[in-house]
Amino acid sequence: MTTPVTGRFAPTPSGRLHLGNLLCALLAYLSARHAGGRFLLRIEDLDAPRCPKRLCDAAIQDLSWLGITWDEPPLFQSERGEIYQRYFRELERKGLLYPCFCTRAQLHAASAPNRGDENPVYAGICAHLSPEDIAERIRTRRPAIRLRVPDETIAVQDCHYGQYSEYMPRDCGDFIIRRSDGLFGYQLAVVVDDALSGVNEIVRGHDILSSTPRQIYIQRLLGFDTPSYIHIPLLEDADGRRLAKRNRDMDLTSLSKRFSREDILGMLAYSAGILEEERPAAMDELISRFDWKNVKKEDIRLGKTVGVWAAAQRNF
Ligand code: GLU
Repeated sequence: MTTPVTGRFAPTPSGRLHLGNLLCALLAYLSARHAGGRFLLRIEDLDAPRCPKRLCDAAIQDLSWLGITWDEPPLFQSERGEIYQRYFRELERKGLLYPCFCTRAQLHAASAPNRGDENPVYAGICAHLSPEDIAERIRTRRPAIRLRVPDETIAVQDCHYGQYSEYMPRDCGDFIIRRSDGLFGYQLAVVVDDALSGVNEIVRGHDILSSTPRQIYIQRLLGFDTPSYIHIPLLEDADGRRLAKRNRDMDLTSLSKRFSREDILGMLAYSAGILEEERPAAMDELISRFDWKNVKKEDIRLGKTVGVWAAAQRNF
């Protein structure tokens, strides 16, 4: 018997959700529901000051407005520090963590560029400090904590984009698992939360594909199963720029004044390739039609779609 699908959407509400986030939520939801599976919502407000309650509430409201439902009360990462601490200890017991005292400037000066546009690869400056060195430095500076990466290649078989792999020392480097301000890093929290919630299908933007080898590594260390990964194209505006929260790119406050839920579902589904024409669509119809084979692989330019999008952009 195959295990039923448990999917999830895990936004970081440091701004209002934009249409790109909603597209991701929709595809994750359709994939899980089409398979008759469960769906969960997790609010990734780990960095609580950047994700105030009003934005967490707005994210939940926007998703509900769109017709997305979840089978358990949403999890809030800001409330789960003790759980992350337990797994952090487990990594510590394996002797794989070390304190890093580098400043931002040192990191940039000494780092090798990596493939992604994220953080540069850590050059290992603090990887072999003696206990005396550590005791000395800890008096003046609170360290971040890094996880040593193995001398191997870790590959993910992405269901949409195929294989992606990183030779960990060269492409990734020892990475931060707890920040110097004490907050646990995204990589640890996301792995622990997905595993403890029984999530076995992860749908998210392909800008996070390069985090996946790190997450698979943590899963292995903690004895968790690896879920299936389906990364999806990102939405770009008419000028080819990725939609971003800081641009206030078309959030639902303005869109919902002009368009119905079915209009927006139809636009999103058409732009992703699920509908052949741009027209209003109900969630139930999209659930039954959904097929990953029809979902585009290249990033989606809003300007390519017609009618309502263009009107929406002109009017805001
Ligand atoms: N919270 C992340 C974001 O909003 C997504 C994490 C994930 O899906 O694994 O970009």
